[in-house]
Amino acid sequence: MFQKILIANRGEIAVRIIRACKEMGIKTVAVYSDADKNAMHTYLADESVCIGPAPVKNSYLNMQAIISAAVNTGAEAIHPGYGLLSENPAFAKLCEECNISFIGPSSKIIRKMGDKNEARKTMKEAGVPIVEGSSLIKDGMEARKLAEEIGFPLLIKAKAGGGGRGIRKVESMDELDNAFATASGEALSVFGDGGVYMEKFISPAKHIEVQILGDNYGNIVTLGERECSVQRNNQKILEESPSPAIDENIRKKLEETAKKAGKAVKYVGLGTIEFIMDRDKNFYFMEMNTRLQVEHTVTEAVTGIDLVKWQIRVASGCKLDIKQEDIKINGVAIECRINTEDPFNNFLAQTGKITLLHIPGGPKVRFDTAVYQGYEIPPFYDSMIGKLIVHGRNREETIRKMKAALCEMVIEGVVVNTELQLEVLDYKDFVQGDYSTFMLENLLKERKENRK
Ligand code: ADP
Ligand code: ADP
Ligand code: MG
Repeated sequence: MFQKILIANRGEIAVRIIRACKEMGIKTVAVYSDADKNAMHTYLADESVCIGPAPVKNSYLNMQAIISAAVNTGAEAIHPGYGLLSENPAFAKLCEECNISFIGPSSKIIRKMGDKNEARKTMKEAGVPIVEGSSLIKDGMEARKLAEEIGFPLLIKAKAGGGGRGIRKVESMDELDNAFATASGEALSVFGDGGVYMEKFISPAKHIEVQILGDNYGNIVTLGERECSVQRNNQKILEESPSPAIDENIRKKLEETAKKAGKAVKYVGLGTIEFIMDRDKNFYFMEMNTRLQVEHTVTEAVTGIDLVKWQIRVASGCKLDIKQEDIKINGVAIECRINTEDPFNNFLAQTGKITLLHIPGGPKVRFDTAVYQGYEIPPFYDSMIGKLIVHGRNREETIRKMKAALCEMVIEGVVVNTELQLEVLDYKDFVQGDYSTFMLENLLKERKENRK
């Protein structure tokens, strides 16, 4: 087992990883930017190293600085968290070359699955259903020909996209030329790679994903699914496990397909296979995230398995001692992402100082955060400041528990999205359980009309 791990991230996920290390008796090294001198992860780690100025490109994305910090502190492994360098094959490669264990799959697997177009090809070959669509598009003319075959509406997606960015919906042929040019241009400037492909727009759609975990000895287990259809701008804000909309039969098929996907690339570590599901419950591979996911917490609640600890164990060469038949899904868990944004003003990001903070508690209420009272939220990073996770025996109990916890939570000094989360929990489609990715938009539309 590792003696010391460097955490190449910030915020709640850095704190989450530090906690797992502490419980395992592993020493921790935090890295921080100038803006994060007073951040929670900087305080909690055994050692902390400043790696540069506030902007991520100068600090949390500065591979050389992070590797140097690991070498100088004698850390044997780096945990990348999510976002930032977590799905960067060049960083994983650099770790491999420097003899530092990257806590995640090999750079080869990351490269293969991180390119969304490449991943579609690999999955198709493995017999995993993919959304009808194209490979990389060469030019406007090819785009028109492909669009005719696929039909409208369709999506143009950046092969390097992520975090809900790099997806553009196209309604008709009239929009296509312009959309293709803008999408490729944006992809190039945001992701440094202009490659785009097309997918049929599934409507209405549900986002359901399966957690997988593999070791170095060819073992792969699936840990149930997560329903992630509550989204704004293609990004999740609330997740639950299990999905209330599928039966045992579909659950089994989803898990088998996810396992097949994992086996096809000999997956090692923690990973997520994201599926899109249509109205008839047909599902298709959308992408794979080769890292720890924001919403891993709901899976931890219903399975009772600490995913971060397993990630670390697997990376250090341990064999999975969890058998598939021993993984049981108990009750229902929901996670609400607490974002510093104004949901009733186009989700505009907010900053400020937290003047008063009260975190809800009680049985099976978990709040993962890195903020504290008096903390000033820097404007440079993600708007998610915490995740509230509750676990109950059934969905009704879990929804009631979440509402109680959200009502108890006090965050003053900065606008957060708590009110919207409460409205979601009361919304008819959510309560009934079989909702699509359109739900949040519908809720906001109805809300606006009712207030007129
Ligand atoms: P999850 O799939 O775990 O729910 P999200 O899509 O919400 O994760 O992304 C988690 C974090 O990682 C967010 O901060 C998001 O902005 C960031 N992120 C994910 N993928 C990318 C990417 N390819 N480029 C930039 N940021 C990304
Ligand atoms: P990212 O890498 O940004 O997470 P994804 O490919 O996972 O991108 O897609 C993000 C979200 O966009 C999905 O959760 C879903 O809501 C929506 N989406 C993606 N592909 C489709 C599709 N073919 N049809 C309908 N919605 C889609
Ligand atoms: Mg995704």
